[in-house]
Amino acid sequence: MSNNNYLGLYIHVPFCEKKCPYCNFYSVQNSEELQNKYINIIIQELQKFGANTNKIIDTIYFGGGTPSLLKPEKIYKIINNINKNFSILNPEIIIEINPADYNYSDFEILKSIGINRVSVGAQSLNNNNLITLQRRHNTEHILNTYYNIIKSGIKNISFDFIIGLLGQNFQDLDNIINFCKNNYLAHISVYLLKIEKNTKFFDNPNIKNFADQDICSDFYIYISENLKKIGYDHYEISNFARDNMYSKHNLKYWNLDEYLGIGPSAHSFFNNKRFYYKNNLNNFLENPEIIYDSDSCNTPDEYIMLKLRLKSGVSNQEFQKKFNMNIPDKYFSNLKKYENLGLVNYTKNKISLTNRGFLLSNTIISDIIL
Ligand code: SF4
Repeated sequence: MSNNNYLGLYIHVPFCEKKCPYCNFYSVQNSEELQNKYINIIIQELQKFGANTNKIIDTIYFGGGTPSLLKPEKIYKIINNINKNFSILNPEIIIEINPADYNYSDFEILKSIGINRVSVGAQSLNNNNLITLQRRHNTEHILNTYYNIIKSGIKNISFDFIIGLLGQNFQDLDNIINFCKNNYLAHISVYLLKIEKNTKFFDNPNIKNFADQDICSDFYIYISENLKKIGYDHYEISNFARDNMYSKHNLKYWNLDEYLGIGPSAHSFFNNKRFYYKNNLNNFLENPEIIYDSDSCNTPDEYIMLKLRLKSGVSNQEFQKKFNMNIPDKYFSNLKKYENLGLVNYTKNKISLTNRGFLLSNTIISDIIL
C-alpha cells in the first residue's frame, strides 16, 4: 500500500540506567556485556533484511531505552553496517539522548558519523519536576547538552517535555516558552503525563503525581498557543516544529509509509506487512524471530486514525491516491457536532482536528471511524 520506494529504519536500544516511574517502554538494566551481544545481533538482522529489499533508507532513528548509553563508537559500528547492507539517500539520522550522558567530544564524533538530529529527553526545565519524574539529569545537564550540541555543529535539535505533573504550574510552561524564544530549537515534543499500566506511578495509586484533567487541558492549550506565537507549527498532537523542521522519520508513521524496526519490542511495516520482535532482550539475543501481526492491515480506518493526528488531517486527494476512492461518506456522519464545538474542521475534501480537538483526539477519532 505504501506508494514510495523509501524506508525509515528504527533501531531500538533497550538499555536504561534505571527505570523511570512513568515509563512503560521496553528496557533492561544497562550492561557493557549485553550491549556488545546486542550490537552483534543488530548487525546480523541488518544483513538479513538488507539482503531482502531494494528500498532506499532516508531516515534512521535510534530510539529507546536510552541510545546515549552506547558510546558514539558503537553507534558508528551500527551506522557503518546500515551503510554496508542498504541503499541510503541523504538520511535524516536521529538519536534520542539523556542529557546526562554525552559531552562535547561525543557530539563531535556523532556529527562526524552522520547524526544530524538530536532528540533530547529534557522533560522539564524545573529541577523539582525532574525529581518527581526521578530523572537522573537536572537542568544544568540540559543546558550544557544544548550548548554542546550547538557547538558541535548539529543544528536540528528537538526537546521532549512532559506536562501534567502535580506541582507543575504556568511558570514552568513559561520557562519552556522563554527557552524557545531565546535559543534556537527546531522541534519540540510535548507529552501529557499518562499513568500507564506496568509503571511505578500506576502501581502506587496512593501517591498522586499527576495534575487534574482540567489543569492538564489548560496547560496543553497554553503551550500550544504560546509556541504558535513564537513561530512553531503545532503540526501533530504532541509535536511542534519551526522552519519546516518536521520529524521526517515520525511522519512516516502518521502517513502510513514503510519503516523497519530492529531490536526487542520494535515494530515494522515492511513490504506491506506488519510485524514485531518480542519485548525480551534474551529472546532477541538467542533467537531474534519476528512475529507477524495478523489483525492489522492497512485499512482506510487505520489511515484516517493516523492522519487525523496531523494538523493537515486527511485530504480527499491523498485518500484517492492511497485507496483509489473518495473518502467514504460514513466518516463524515458524526462530524457536525464536533465542528459546532470547535474541535473539527471539515469540507467534502478534507477533515482535520483543531488544537482543542487534539486534546480529545481519542474520543473523536473513535467516533469518526465507528
Ligand atoms: S523514560 Fe527513557 S530513560 Fe526513563 S525508563 Fe523510559 S526509556 Fe528509560
